Formats: sequence, C-alpha cells, structure tokens
Amino acid sequence: MSKVTVGLLGAGLLSVCASVAAGATNPSGAANPSGDARTILGELLSIDTTYEKGTAAAVDALRTRFLAAGFPAANLVVVANSANPTQSNLIVTLKGHGKGKALLYLCHLDVVAAKPEDWSVPPFALTEKDGWIYGRGSLDMKGEDANVAAALLRLKREAYVPARDIIVAFTADEEAGGGEGVGWLVRTHRDLIDAGLVLNPDSGTGAFRGGRRAFYGVQTSEKSYVTFAAEATNKGGHSSEPRPDNAIYALTAGLDRLAVYKFPIRLTDTVLAFYARQAQFESGTRQADMRAVGTGDTAAAERLATDPTDNAQVRTTCVATMLEAGHAENALPQRARATIQCRMLPGDTQEQTKAALERVLADPALKLTITRAATPSPESPPSAAIMAVYDRVVHSMWPGLTVMPSMDAGASDSKYTRAAGMPSYGAASNFFDLEDMRAHGQDERIKATLFAEGGEFTYRLMKAFSTAGAP
Ligand SMILES: [Zn+2]
Repeated sequence: MSKVTVGLLGAGLLSVCASVAAGATNPSGAANPSGDARTILGELLSIDTTYEKGTAAAVDALRTRFLAAGFPAANLVVVANSANPTQSNLIVTLKGHGKGKALLYLCHLDVVAAKPEDWSVPPFALTEKDGWIYGRGSLDMKGEDANVAAALLRLKREAYVPARDIIVAFTADEEAGGGEGVGWLVRTHRDLIDAGLVLNPDSGTGAFRGGRRAFYGVQTSEKSYVTFAAEATNKGGHSSEPRPDNAIYALTAGLDRLAVYKFPIRLTDTVLAFYARQAQFESGTRQADMRAVGTGDTAAAERLATDPTDNAQVRTTCVATMLEAGHAENALPQRARATIQCRMLPGDTQEQTKAALERVLADPALKLTITRAATPSPESPPSAAIMAVYDRVVHSMWPGLTVMPSMDAGASDSKYTRAAGMPSYGAASNFFDLEDMRAHGQDERIKATLFAEGGEFTYRLMKAFSTAGAP
C-alpha cells in the first residue's frame, strides 16, 4: 500500500492508504448501470488480486467495461512483464486536444492477502452492512479505482474532450514492491504513461474524525528509504579467553552512538505549509510550536520532534532494525551484523546518508554496505497554481475545509514517477476514519454514504486538471 502521512491532532501522524467507497446515489445524476462506481467496485472486490493471483482478471474486467463504453481498443493497452504475465497492467487513454503533456492517474489493482477465517464477512466480495462497505481493497484502493474508472466513463459519456490526454494506469504489484507495476512501466513503457502531471489517489488524505470531515491532505512528497548492513568481523577464539577486541562490542558501541544521533532538521516547502495549517487544530505550546515551524523555526521543530511522528517529518532518520552475531555460545564472535534502515527526506541521497552514518558509527572497522538501494523521490512542489486547483475543487464539494500539502513517511508508487521527473500529487477522493483505519487489516471497510461524494470529487478533479489552462 502506499503510505499516506496524515497530520493527526496531537497524536501525530498516521500512515494510511486512503480511499473510501460506497454506492449510494450519484448526486450529479450521472449514475449509469454499467459504469457507476458502485457496480465497478463490486466487480473489483469480487476478484482476488493478491500478488499470488495477479491482476489479469481485474484488468480484463475493466477493459471489457471501457470497450463497451466506446473506448477504442487502441486506447486500452494491456501490458505485463513477460516473466510474470499474471501481474497485468491496463493503460486507458482518453484522448485530448494535445495541449500539454498528459495527465496520468496511478491506480493499483492489487491488494494484500486476507484470510477468510479472520474476517467477519467474505473478504473477496462486496458486503454492505450498517452503512459500511466491506471487502479487501475497499479502502486500499479499489474504492479509488472504481471512482477513477467511473469518472473517466462519465467524461466519455458526456463527450468531454480534455485539453491534454487523460491516462489511467490500472496497475499490478504496488503492495509487493512495484517491480511489475508502476516501477516496471516507468522503466520499460515510459511512452505509454509519459505525463506532465501525475495524480495518485492511493496517497493524499481525506480524513474525518468523530463523523466530521477534518481536512484534505495533498501528498506532494514522501520519504525514500535505504537499508544498510553494518558489520564487524574478528578472528574470534575460545570464549574462555575473552579479549578487548570483540565483534559484538565493536558493533554495539557504534550502534550506541547511532542511538543518540539526530540528523539535522530540514524543513521542506511541504512540511512548512503542513505545520502552518495543522496548527489551527492544536492548542497551547504545541500550537505555538507548529506555527513557528511554519515560519521555518528549527528550534520549535526540535521541540515538536520529541514526538516520533513529528520527528519523521523534520529530519532524515536511521534506526537499527535487525541484529545477528556470533556462531556458537562458547566462541568469541567472528561476525556481528546490524541492519540499519534510513528514511530520507526528499533531496537527500543514499551516498550522503551513508557518509553521515559512517561518521556517526565512528569506527573504520565497521563495514557499511547498502543492502537495499533507495529510489530517490524528489518533492513535487506544492506550488500556488497546483494548490489553487485543489482548493477550488475541494471547496466546491466541502466549503471551508482546510487543504494542506503533506509528506508521507512511507512510500507509494509516486516515488517512481517523481524519480522519472513527473510531478506527482495525492488525489484521495474518499474520507477515511482517522480513529479506525483498516487498510491491510481485518474487515477493511469504507463508509457507504461518502462514496458518491468521493466519486463526484474525483470527476471534478479529473476535469479541473485536464481542462485548458490547468497547471
Ligand atoms: Zn495502496
């Protein structure tokens, strides 16, 4: 899933794949028996798209729907890595007037596993109960997929011709790493998805708490991660004759230095704007500190950073996550190895981070290697022009709701498009419950009453970013 970091009042931030779907009536009166979001969602939920099963069946079902709606076959391209053809991707294009580079939507179809015995309803079906729609992927992100598909079908029915092409990539393999989904598409089929602007409904945040809409977060950036191994080696010996040189002690001494190290605070444009707007939901010292951070006050950021969630917003972090050492209880260790994972702010590189780690570990005998390389993900600027479109569309639906840019501490498929130079923004359409978020969990569900509004929002946003003069 993509991780959407959401400002939470006081409690910090929450990682979520945001989407809500349900199928009441469509307030615009644009419901269509074959193309309404509820019908599409029901179909998608009934297809098991875990990594083991793949996405080919869901791709086939969507393609059939777009064909029936009059999309030419040439604009419905199915591609899959030949090494793993069940991980199928569907690229749908609604042709525009060719003014500017395309608008691209990222919509992953795959879901994480769900064990029927753990659920109170069948996970691979749509069940509506007490105002909620249940099903694996309802929140992450088949509810969004259904809204995007329905919006595109509605534009087609209305004979709308966008200024720029609208491309929707329904993709495989987001939950399992992206190697056969967006990451693979960017690498091998850039021509199919090349875009001037990317919207990813898997990220970004429409949130409510206590039944009230809280805010709308536009994901503009995310941290990227790089994993290191730090290793100490030693000739070892018999445990009956210990020596001062010891691989375990050498490693743990370095880790002790890491434990107290703090990377410097750096406030990105997104984080500045985020705190400036989140402050209104706080009170007292915390509110004052947030306002100060919004103006670039790093001392205030340091005070906020006592909260781990805020800490993750204002600096790169590295933490030891795994440890292995020794080979026998009666032998001096020949080897001690720690896994260290770093989450880098946009703009930081793994080389810089490695150099910083080496300084902190401060022992040339500790060998530091990269075991999982980063996909660097630059910030997509929260520019006035982009944010104005969000403000306008959000307020056309929900007047007065606070709109703010946000950075995820986790990662989404947008890292691939951002790394490829395509500015990418969150575009969640449905509001999830800040106090009961079930993405990837048991009885995943979305609020039925909000679904029609989410669909209408998706339609308006798609139109706003594809019309003449859109940024
Ligand atoms: Zn997701």
